[in-house]
Amino acid sequence: MSLAAVAPAPLIDPFQRAISYLRVSVTDRCDFRCVYCMSEHMQFLPKRELLTLEELDRLCSSFITLGVKKLRLTGGEPLVRRDLMTLIRSLGRHLESGALEELTLTTNGSQLETHARDLFAAGVRRINVSIDTLDPDKFREITRRGDLAQVIRGVDAALAAGLKIKINTVALRGVNEDEIPSIAEWSHARGMDLSLIETMPLGDIDGDRTDQYLPLSLVKARLAQRWTLNESAYRTGGPARYVSVAETGGRIGFITPMTHNFCESCNRVRVTCTGTLYMCLGQDDAADLRAPLRASEDDGKLVEAIREAIRRKPKGHDFIIDRRNAKPAVARHMSTTGG
Ligand code: SAM
Ligand code: SF4
Repeated sequence: MSLAAVAPAPLIDPFQRAISYLRVSVTDRCDFRCVYCMSEHMQFLPKRELLTLEELDRLCSSFITLGVKKLRLTGGEPLVRRDLMTLIRSLGRHLESGALEELTLTTNGSQLETHARDLFAAGVRRINVSIDTLDPDKFREITRRGDLAQVIRGVDAALAAGLKIKINTVALRGVNEDEIPSIAEWSHARGMDLSLIETMPLGDIDGDRTDQYLPLSLVKARLAQRWTLNESAYRTGGPARYVSVAETGGRIGFITPMTHNFCESCNRVRVTCTGTLYMCLGQDDAADLRAPLRASEDDGKLVEAIREAIRRKPKGHDFIIDRRNAKPAVARHMSTTGG
């Protein structure tokens, strides 16, 4: 029998999209409380609800066996999970074997200074760091407790370790909209791309999202008045659409779930830190993978649960932010499903 005949069938959803990208939230906890992401007094899950590091490893490895090529660890803040580096080092074996093409993470950068070199040593080559402002006071306000200098030290350490960084910035009306050009200049001067994100209506926060929402179409039009923006064919396997900026020599990505529906090419699914698989960030349908994981040491039940869930992956999401729809589109926070 040929090898191809015994390799497990890849994960293909009902709309013929191959699932090659998995995002795993390794914790719901975070050392920040960003105003658009969490409420001031978040109730975090009891630790026993979380998948153990061994269970996370089994879960990620099963997805890799089923054809996932890109794995992103996120949260909450992934680097606040104790011993996360053990998991990352262990998952690095799939990079060595060639089964996995990329192991990456999205982080707020607060713990990067400590972990940058270990991440590189484990095979991580690119990471996303979220920074919404370069003003230390504003940074503390947006994150409700973060220290910008600590994050910048983390960025410097990561660059020095050889990691490529993409900066993620959520565009917030009246908060950081004037700063976007300077964040782009700062990023590009360090060889980092910048991705701008629209706020998405996920989970209750302590404010009104209609006050925060800033359409990126407007941001892009303003940037085009300042700089020469050339549409770029560059893709990272995600939903961002890029332009290159002639004056800075860097790229700016626009992630526009609100103004442009990008679901048709969606190749991803997400797993929460409790092992719940969400087939779409903007829909409530989910599948529990923790029970099949814990039901036996064999991964058969887990693989069957994954396949069954992918057969239900919906066509797309339907986010709306307006005054009549002041409630979040889905009740869970971004920190639950992972950004
Ligand atoms: N703590 C890490 C961080 O901040 O990068 C990883 C998790 S965080 C949930 C991932 C990304 O989601 C961050 O870039 C964050 O800015 C973004 N995010 C959080 N809530 C969001 C929302 N409601 N709409 C859009 N982006 C959001
Ligand atoms: Fe934490 Fe990231 Fe959410 Fe900010 S965006 S509160 S850093 S999980």
